Amino acid sequence: MSGLVSLDTARKAPAIALTGLTKTYAGGVRALDDVSLTVAHGTFLAVMGPSGSGKSTLMHCAAGLDAPTEGSVRIDGHEIAGMNEARRTELRRERVGFVFQAYNLIPSLSVEDNITLPLRLAGRRPDREWLHTLVARVGLADRLRHRPAELSGGQQQRAAVVRALVTRPAVVFADEPTGALDLRSAHQVLDLLRDLVDDLGQTVVMVTHDPAAAARAHQALVMADGRVVESLTSPTAPQLADRLVALGER
Ligand code: ADP
Ligand code: MG
Repeated sequence: MSGLVSLDTARKAPAIALTGLTKTYAGGVRALDDVSLTVAHGTFLAVMGPSGSGKSTLMHCAAGLDAPTEGSVRIDGHEIAGMNEARRTELRRERVGFVFQAYNLIPSLSVEDNITLPLRLAGRRPDREWLHTLVARVGLADRLRHRPAELSGGQQQRAAVVRALVTRPAVVFADEPTGALDLRSAHQVLDLLRDLVDDLGQTVVMVTHDPAAAARAHQALVMADGRVVESLTSPTAPQLADRLVALGER
């Protein structure tokens, strides 16, 4: 069946492949300096580093939100260099999910309408079974008709995680997803992200400055001055804290 063949072919490419990525902003700031890395499907990758080290720029380029100055970005095998804004937007809608620190749910929409919004934007129908699986998994089955303001911060962020997953993206990017949460809610969201990777094979790239959060990932990159200066497998929080302190003291 040709459908299966093409899916198989697409899955041979890593979720993300960056080669020689450089981003220079107007004014000459080199936010990324020749970064190359691949993110295999089904991995949980944390990106750490001091403020200004290029984490957000890396995420924006890898997610197709911004175009690099030089180098190649492949999302699920699709090269975005040279794509215009409209094609990049289309690729993002199809293959990328986002979770932000501030949840970014639309206040006037119900939880369910927030969650299914990415599908409607992509002109796709909700897969009810998938939706219910996700919603039950995050404990929001009885909250679908509520407005975001009627949920706790942790519940809102779990709704945002479901929203990011509803299109079955190749990769979910999370930018400081626990930054606004109390410790207990932060743990729940990190447990959720980790389970999605371990149980569903979801790929997650998370930017965080919290070593304890990054320690939940399979792998952590440490950035400094627009470069990846370290890559740690099964990182521990003390190990990561130590690396960050050392970078701060240079
Ligand atoms: P981080 O997320 O690690 O704090 P960023 O990727 O936001 O780092 O920024 C990396 C560098 O690029 C910093 O020096 C920052 O000031 C600069 N920078 C980021 N965005 C812009 C922009 N839109 N225009 C100019 N410089 C920028
Ligand atoms: Mg940033």
